[in-house]
Amino acid sequence: MKYYSTNHKAPEATLAEAVQKGLAPDKGLYMPEKIARLPEEFFENIGEKDFHDIATTVATAFFGDDIPAADLEKIVCDTLSFDTPLVNIHDNIYSLELFHGPTLAFKDVGGRFMARMLSWFIRRDGGNRKVTVIVATSGDTGSAVANGFLGVEGIDVIVLYPKGKVSEIQEKQFTTLGRNITALEVDGNFDDCQRLVKSAFMDGELNRIMTLTSANSINVARFLPQAFYYFNAYAQLQRAGKAENVVFCVPSGNFGNITAGLIAWRMGLPAKRFIAANNRNDVFFEYLRTGVYTPRVSVQTIANAMDVGDPSNFARVMDLYGNSVEAVRRDISGCRYTDEDIRKTIAAVYSEYGYVLDPHGACGYQGLADNILPEETGVFLETAHPAKFKDTVEKILGKDIAIPAKLQEFMKGEKQSVGISADFRDFKDYLKTRA
Ligand SMILES: *Cc1c(COP(=O)(O)O)cnc(C)c1O
Repeated sequence: MKYYSTNHKAPEATLAEAVQKGLAPDKGLYMPEKIARLPEEFFENIGEKDFHDIATTVATAFFGDDIPAADLEKIVCDTLSFDTPLVNIHDNIYSLELFHGPTLAFKDVGGRFMARMLSWFIRRDGGNRKVTVIVATSGDTGSAVANGFLGVEGIDVIVLYPKGKVSEIQEKQFTTLGRNITALEVDGNFDDCQRLVKSAFMDGELNRIMTLTSANSINVARFLPQAFYYFNAYAQLQRAGKAENVVFCVPSGNFGNITAGLIAWRMGLPAKRFIAANNRNDVFFEYLRTGVYTPRVSVQTIANAMDVGDPSNFARVMDLYGNSVEAVRRDISGCRYTDEDIRKTIAAVYSEYGYVLDPHGACGYQGLADNILPEETGVFLETAHPAKFKDTVEKILGKDIAIPAKLQEFMKGEKQSVGISADFRDFKDYLKTRA
């Protein structure tokens, strides 16, 4: 299958090219040239299938031309070493828990899948090439990517993060791993980290002496696998006899997660509609309201993984809907919540139903509570475990949040990082020692 750029100026890419490049040369995002509908029979008895079978079918629709069936199945099964259970909160509202992976956030699915797919391409091409993945993080992406690539042959990962600006839990998740993962603690902010990464990709000398790859969230190998768990949610609803009029509400920042859901829908996933939940970074909500897309500088909120002022995957949404706001509005509605709203939701859902939401999932829950009709079944994506936002959630609930064993393991590890300045020459000198 070929991949085209949403800007339509770059040539079409093969899967290997799209995965290794990340962004298209014309700065557009890659899209699969066709989104095949899965047969009706697949959905009729999907409730009898397990997650690995379901995900393998979905993966084959995209990657089946490029990767042999047995290898693809292994990539899918290794990726999904954990489940995505659907939990009833009350009445017709369900939480799709995407936090059972190694770093307790949904980004584990895309991170693990991309690592395995990249490693497969390296082996196919002879296996003697080393690929260096560089990734800038403000917290969560670094841990999902680092843990996804941990121990994967042929790949070195370098995570750049701003010194003193990530939480201790987040920092431990990518500085304690060792093996093929190195953390660079940059004396600067997140924008400096991103600038260093971009400069490295544009540096002629570095690109001659080493193969650099980006693992950011727009990569098709991180983006498309997120469709897997929408189908798995539907299978669980079918088993519960609740598969009619399904509404998905997705806490959204860069809009990768919801766009994967829209792609699942095009593949035939029986859904009725989607809701995009925003925090105060509400450019999409405003786009739905006014028909005009106006990117802004992001503002900081307690749902910080959604603090995005110019969502990259908006380009993919536009591509899917032919730039028509009317068409978008027919399928997707929006909602937005302030930090105060989020705090109220977390407190109320805990006191009424005993369920602890994280600040992102809280936006998803409230989006359903405010919009769903009695005849609909609502599923919100619980994108991270509340313990990842321990201080915030504990303050709201006035009680301790238990840290899951997986997180405790990270906390025991010894932090190892290399300090560098925010000057590109330092970063370049460091990379040359790793070539
Ligand atoms: C990344 C992230 C989001 C936002 O997902 P997008 O795909 O960028 O819209 C929401 N919640 C959590 C916990 C995240 O880490």
